Amino acid sequence: MINRQLFLMHQAQTTEFPVMLEISHAHGNYLFDVQGKKYLDLISGISVSHIGHGNVQVKDAIIEQLNKHQHVMIYGEFVQSAQVNLAQALTQLLPSNLDSVYLLNSGAEATDVALKLAKRVTQRPNIIACKNAYHGSTHAALSLNSDAYYKDAFRPLLPGVSFIEFNNIASLEAINEQTACVVCEVIQSEAGYVWANPNFLKALRARCTKLGVLLIFDEIQSGMGKTGTLFAFEQIGVVPDILLLGKALGAGMPIGAVLASKEHMMMLANNPILGHITTFGGHPVVAAAAKAGLDVLVQNNLLAGIPAKEQLFISLLVHPEIKQVSGKGLMLAVELSSFDFTLATVKACQAKGLITDWFLFANNRLRIAPPLTITLPEIEEACAIMLEAITETQASMASNNPLSS
Ligand code: PLP
Repeated sequence: MINRQLFLMHQAQTTEFPVMLEISHAHGNYLFDVQGKKYLDLISGISVSHIGHGNVQVKDAIIEQLNKHQHVMIYGEFVQSAQVNLAQALTQLLPSNLDSVYLLNSGAEATDVALKLAKRVTQRPNIIACKNAYHGSTHAALSLNSDAYYKDAFRPLLPGVSFIEFNNIASLEAINEQTACVVCEVIQSEAGYVWANPNFLKALRARCTKLGVLLIFDEIQSGMGKTGTLFAFEQIGVVPDILLLGKALGAGMPIGAVLASKEHMMMLANNPILGHITTFGGHPVVAAAAKAGLDVLVQNNLLAGIPAKEQLFISLLVHPEIKQVSGKGLMLAVELSSFDFTLATVKACQAKGLITDWFLFANNRLRIAPPLTITLPEIEEACAIMLEAITETQASMASNNPLSS
């Protein structure tokens, strides 16, 4: 039986319409399918492969760590140099109140741990999240999803969760002395790359500080340079009490991380002891890859090229069907008229060797989140394909709908 049949038969499915591209290998900014066809990667496996695929420094670090040891103990008991090196490097790049990191396996686990930490620190019951945010798919993380369609089938979820409007200062009134934490993104990812209004984040910070509420920034998707700074919050100058990272932090390996102050983090270690435990969190091979990925990003100064790359995308993506290009840095979204138009364009792009996608809560937007290593000629290639695909979609929709002409 061929792989495609086995995939459908034995692998759990997340949708009835999987893309089904059969990948042979990936290198640099390209994926290759089993027929040898080459695809420019405009989504990095949803914001993961930020330094491109198959980076030699990362592969070497993985092999070096494999030769030393793989798993030796659950997280937090033994001293393992791969974890220590990553924790030191990461905390050195962050404001001084984020000086302790809990290494985990995924973004959703990081969300769960942050909620537990906020409840433990504040001894308060309630959690506030923003509408149209996505923080993961586990029970607790799903509870922060404001979209009834995605969560109703899984109720009951976490109690005490309510929602405020992103970028709406008036909605901050909902935060009160019963609130343990507010979870917020600096750039709302699955809403279609919507950048936070700096005044909203400043007002949010002030209200949280005033009421003793912990402010949690989810930079699982935006972290590691994608908006042009290592962390998006640096551009606004608002520092959270808890920071969530994941995705690109692992440089292609599975990871999640919660950063907080040492004082707060210690509260997961007493009353109760073992407030959060994980077998594989901080896996040494993953930690070694993450540290190498961080080194690649910093040593090659990959952030320096991002403004010019952003500008090139924006200047080239001009078409009567494009309503706007939103986002920041190399997290951009191209707004089209409808989901049907977007879906047809994504398919046309794939046929022409370009991988793009839409967003969970903005299915009329095309996702642009390439590796930060994408070159200017590759951006020109991507935009030419995208514009061609949009024109073709426009023509085919017009011919299928005589009323539109
Ligand atoms: N938070 C944000 C902003 C995300 O984009 C995601 C994943 O897309 C998550 C959390 C959950 O991360 P994971 O899929 O690793 O559980």
